[in-house]
Amino acid sequence: MEQRLSRLRNHFDEAGIDALLVFSPENRRYLSGFTGSSGYLLLTGEEALLFTDFRYTEQASAQAPDCRIVKHGPKPFEDIAAYVRKQGIRALGFEQDHVTYATYKRVKNLLQQVSLVPASGLVERLRRCKDEAEIEIIREAAKIADAAFSHILSFLRPGVTEREVALELEMFMRKNGASGSSFETIVASGSRSSLPHGVASDKVLEKGDFVTLDFGAYYKGYCSDLTRTVSLGQPREERLKEIYEIVLQAQTHALSCIRAGMTGKEADALARDWIAERGYGEHFGHSLGHGIGLAIHEDPRLSSLSEDLLEPGMVVTVEPGIYLPNVGGVRIEDDVVITENGLEVLTHSPKELLVLA
Ligand code: ZN
Ligand code: ZN
Repeated sequence: MEQRLSRLRNHFDEAGIDALLVFSPENRRYLSGFTGSSGYLLLTGEEALLFTDFRYTEQASAQAPDCRIVKHGPKPFEDIAAYVRKQGIRALGFEQDHVTYATYKRVKNLLQQVSLVPASGLVERLRRCKDEAEIEIIREAAKIADAAFSHILSFLRPGVTEREVALELEMFMRKNGASGSSFETIVASGSRSSLPHGVASDKVLEKGDFVTLDFGAYYKGYCSDLTRTVSLGQPREERLKEIYEIVLQAQTHALSCIRAGMTGKEADALARDWIAERGYGEHFGHSLGHGIGLAIHEDPRLSSLSEDLLEPGMVVTVEPGIYLPNVGGVRIEDDVVITENGLEVLTHSPKELLVLA
């Protein structure tokens, strides 16, 4: 943690701040180690203070040895403001993407002599490259998702609802070490599989359906994110087989070419051009991938607009898809770590089209 704190302090000058007030729970956890649900981290040039309430002070002391733990009263911002004034902090950075307007006004009111500087992405930028310990946790989270996929294959059959499938996936992941799902499980079957984010509904699975499962394990604070599309019996339409093959080739092609030094835009184009050249460009409406870590969607982005430079240690998803309205859709998603000379795939579930009897 000490190293993360000093790397962050190195950016204070260019951000024009002499202290940063951290509101984001993920950023708080990243910088302190504290996993509790409530608290504010105030990082000055010399000190790291973790303000939290009486429920958490003991836990915070154990989890965040590099921070001074301060128990705040019923009005946390008054305590924080008092400290800021006492230290003579003149420019206090705050995370503008994680603060409500009401909170901003309250802090502003309490610190009229201090300039409040909106800061964006200071901690998020550090979080982009994972260290070995973080990668090991994500590897484990990916393993749980793989095991859940293998388990669900014997559960999928005509007659069960998408919601039952989602529940079974989630239960399996929790029984196998996950503390929860890393996001709301997507189970989209039949023509619903053309909804890229079709959260599990009461729809019953039917023979001939393509079923897209997109889910992940939340494990030790980190997320995995896996998508597979399977066919329940022979696919209802020949065209579904065709788009499956194209998505699979686009994904395989992207995985074999993505490497450090590329921009997110260049990575995205690998799959996007592949799909467009085969006539389905307009049916791949989302970006190729996103970073995963403490949050399910974080930097870098693999999208047609992203100038993010891929670097070793980044963990991203690669998830092309084709969605045909009223017919069905396909998405295949893996989690990968960018390495010095290519990438390491963390999810290993089979990718050839599975036709479940
Ligand atoms: Zn996903
Ligand atoms: Zn994803």
